[in-house]
Amino acid sequence: MIKSIHCSKLSRAMACAGSLFFEDLPKEETNEAALEGTAAGEYLERLLTRQELHPNVTHARNGVPFDLDMRFYALDVAVGIRDLLGGSYLGVNCETVIDWQTQSGIAIKGRYDASFTHEKNLYVDDYKYGFGIVEAKENWQLLGYAIGEVIRRNCSFPTIVLRIHQPRAHHEEGTTREWRITYDELIHYKTVIENRMTAIVAGEKSLVTGNQCKYCPAAAACPAFNKAYHRGVDIAHEFLQDTLDEEELSYQLDLVGRVEDLIKTRKSSLEMLAISRIKEGKLITNYGIDQRYGNRTWKSGISPDVIKMMTGKDVTKSEMLSPAQAEKVGVPIEMINTITERKLLGNKLKKLDSSKLADKIFGNPNKEIR
Ligand code: SF4
Repeated sequence: MIKSIHCSKLSRAMACAGSLFFEDLPKEETNEAALEGTAAGEYLERLLTRQELHPNVTHARNGVPFDLDMRFYALDVAVGIRDLLGGSYLGVNCETVIDWQTQSGIAIKGRYDASFTHEKNLYVDDYKYGFGIVEAKENWQLLGYAIGEVIRRNCSFPTIVLRIHQPRAHHEEGTTREWRITYDELIHYKTVIENRMTAIVAGEKSLVTGNQCKYCPAAAACPAFNKAYHRGVDIAHEFLQDTLDEEELSYQLDLVGRVEDLIKTRKSSLEMLAISRIKEGKLITNYGIDQRYGNRTWKSGISPDVIKMMTGKDVTKSEMLSPAQAEKVGVPIEMINTITERKLLGNKLKKLDSSKLADKIFGNPNKEIR
């Protein structure tokens, strides 16, 4: 019996109800990137809620140090919000719980990164520090937060603005993407979620492969994913390189790209499964666990002042900002363009359209590819 779904997992549940019903899945390993993302979010929260950012506050609650990049990018997002609000952080809520109940009995749970009202519209913001592109449009996580926030505030808004701030990943629309929907549209999405949860309670368990498989802990055990994987790998073998025309070449590049994704997903899910089995004391032939360590970082509370007091040494350095960072702090772009250069590193194939092949491989398992 499914009792609750976290907003961050809502997208997978909306696409693949069956993913909710796997039992005894290996516990997802916390990786460095996830810890860094949590720390980056905490730093942004500190800025938005005006918590003290004394130089001695060097680490996040999870022990990850607030490094220069983290501080820089979070400040950029925070200043953007402050400027939008006319120079104040007043009224910005962070990490607010928005749990809400669907009629099916399944609760939708979560805490958003930031939310505020501006010109009578409701803004809900999600801060993504990683490099995997996240879109704002039809983002179920943001929709789940926004519905919960409207319920929590108990009022309607003419427009709901759902935004993703993703400062480190390149996106043609920039580091902040937004999707504006009307209140009626938000209610429509709530109905879609309600209907989906009702169907799940009534027994809907279909396994549907798609992009959501990428981070699915069930991928190693999932028959639908395994079928897609084997089908993709088989098809990728069925061509002769010297007979490729241009159309076929484009098709094969798409295909191999998807197969590469499938293999990566399969590898990481098998690794997760193996780590969990080894931790349970089982023997996996030829494999063991190697503990990975990141670079050395100063322990929490160790500031340059502390080291200077202990050793007399100054461990700070002044560092030139990158051109992108310089632009963010107000150096005119025209000037930056005249004093920067970009070295040509070689040619890289650029993918222009990526929408169709996923459907061919993932969309309908019974449909022939091509
Ligand atoms: S791997 Fe994909 S198809 Fe299988 S349960 Fe996970 S999301 Fe669903």
